[in-house]
Amino acid sequence: MIIVLKPNTPSDQIDHIVARIHELGLRTDVSRGVKRTIIGVIGEEDVLRNAPLRAIPGVEEVVPILKPFKLASREFQAEDSVFDLGCGVTVGGGALAMIAGPCAIEGEEILLEIATSVKAAGANILRGGAYKPRTSPYSFQGLGEDGLKILRNVGDHLHMPVVTEVMDPRQVDLIDRYTDIFQIGARNMQNFNLLSEVGQTKRPVLLKRGMSAGVTDLLMSAEYILAGGNKRVILCERGIRSFDNSTRNLLDLAIVPNVKGLSHLPIIVDPSHATGRPDLIPAMSLAAVAAGADGVHIEVHSCPEKAMSDGPQALLPHQYRELMQQIRELAGLFHKTIPAARGVAP
Ligand code: PEP
Ligand code: MN
Repeated sequence: MIIVLKPNTPSDQIDHIVARIHELGLRTDVSRGVKRTIIGVIGEEDVLRNAPLRAIPGVEEVVPILKPFKLASREFQAEDSVFDLGCGVTVGGGALAMIAGPCAIEGEEILLEIATSVKAAGANILRGGAYKPRTSPYSFQGLGEDGLKILRNVGDHLHMPVVTEVMDPRQVDLIDRYTDIFQIGARNMQNFNLLSEVGQTKRPVLLKRGMSAGVTDLLMSAEYILAGGNKRVILCERGIRSFDNSTRNLLDLAIVPNVKGLSHLPIIVDPSHATGRPDLIPAMSLAAVAAGADGVHIEVHSCPEKAMSDGPQALLPHQYRELMQQIRELAGLFHKTIPAARGVAP
């Protein structure tokens, strides 16, 4: 529900309206404009339907949000969300998040080598998994907290914000101590306890689309995080299951403009997990930017044949550098910018 207040409603009256809504057991999100104030009201459907909101003095109009996702919807917020991710990096509103790094953190030296190369190429966020969701329990599961320490050190050293996956609500506090951005992986997109838990934190969340999730499912998962009070959700298309096994997954690029119509949240594209093929990643990265994506997430490794996870899909540093050159040119055509992560390696 969106409540539009009468023009120039005084601030004590706005406070009164908000207090009344809270008394009804509903939650509010107030956006005070120069002339008009708009209040988003969230709560149980039945309570909302029956609440006499229009009767409160100062209320001009009560507009229902028809979509099942509310806080994530364009109706709730017309303008694109823009988030500050740290180190001078923003995403949304024309700024592209270029996330790059290895699938898994394998050691400090190798991460520093990869991170230095991707940063020099123009990446502005460093990725690396310390807790890996592997299909087999016998595969490398990640370095855990030791990996988080390495990621933090390398990120600090290069002045790059870092993103790493959280797989379990019990890991949130620990990972919160090391990361700048939480990643929720495809396999956990509907782990609602985990979504609620990161919704209680102040960190941006990179929410990957589940491999068989529809656009509404993705936005409902974002809603869980937003409903907890955390507004900084970045969506990520990473491919969905299909019958064609010539690529790892099927990259659904149409979801980018589709989401843009439905939601104000930024959406980025991960062609690495979507295609699983380094030969397809450059074309799909460029297509993602052309489709209006707010960033691209790419796995890079300096020696893919020795990588402990997802080696076959990793780009080599020089391939990433060449691709970034092309992305920069294309981004310019679309009036997009790639903010530089502040600072240089000493
Ligand atoms: C990853 O980013 O390394 C990863 C496991 O991604 P996804 O959850 O999209 O499979
Ligand atoms: Mn991976």
